[in-house]
Amino acid sequence: MPELPEVELVKRELAPRVQGRTIEGTDLSEFVNNGHRTGRKTIIKQDIETFKEWVTGASIIKVGRRGKYIYFVLEKNNDIFHLVAHLGMSGAIFAVDNMDDIDNVNFRKHWQVVFHLDDSTLMAYCDIRRFGEMSLAGRLNDFLPFSRMAPEYTDEGSAAYFLDRVKDQKNSNKMIKAVIMDSTVIPGVGNIYASEALYAAGILPTRKCANISAKRLAGLHQEIINVFELSLSKGGSTISDYRGVSGQSGNMQNGFSIYQKKKCGQCGSEVRTKVIATRNTFYCTTCQR
Ligand SMILES: [Zn+2]
Repeated sequence: MPELPEVELVKRELAPRVQGRTIEGTDLSEFVNNGHRTGRKTIIKQDIETFKEWVTGASIIKVGRRGKYIYFVLEKNNDIFHLVAHLGMSGAIFAVDNMDDIDNVNFRKHWQVVFHLDDSTLMAYCDIRRFGEMSLAGRLNDFLPFSRMAPEYTDEGSAAYFLDRVKDQKNSNKMIKAVIMDSTVIPGVGNIYASEALYAAGILPTRKCANISAKRLAGLHQEIINVFELSLSKGGSTISDYRGVSGQSGNMQNGFSIYQKKKCGQCGSEVRTKVIATRNTFYCTTCQR
């Protein structure tokens, strides 16, 4: 699943291609249409006629990111509203002149929503497993996950907020790994970067929040920032399906310290794995306490 760095990279690449453009039309795949016909709201969370009516003729003022969501600030008839998208397990957004320009055949075949822009660019949302989501929201905070989301790691108050939330009584008995994957504590940490940051901070993923000192938590917050920044500098992780806007793969998967490793690079011990918060977690019982 794309985590914060991968979504941030999509935003950075997409913005110059689509900002200032107007959406002239929208194509929806058979999957989306069939899903809606049978009441399943596949990908698009509004009624599809309403969705098309709103976005057609709207100008893209800005592309932004919040947590693992990418959003588009849209303007139409002097009204400002937002299209919020989540890439799900395996979604990708491409900006291309022609659908054949999407090199990866799986993505090309599994396009779900295509926006036609006024300079003939196609902004295509492709999703093989169809867990992605698109919603319209008036104000950004009308979108429920945003109304409860912690500050971004780049915001000044992030470290203090993080400490406060991890030390909140409702989290005291939970394992730290599950808590840092909660966007009300810090947004954008998924399974991969949770393992990496905890390893760098020397904290066992299974440790209960109540038993970690404020000093070590401050260190963990810094390590989360470090893994995000490292991944951004390497173009993100390409584990299964993540691709950049023009189809390129990232490099971060070659820079992991613990995720999917067999032996610890620091001490040589065998790397342990355990399912926490439904996802496989990698850690070293010698280097992490
Ligand atoms: Zn070790």
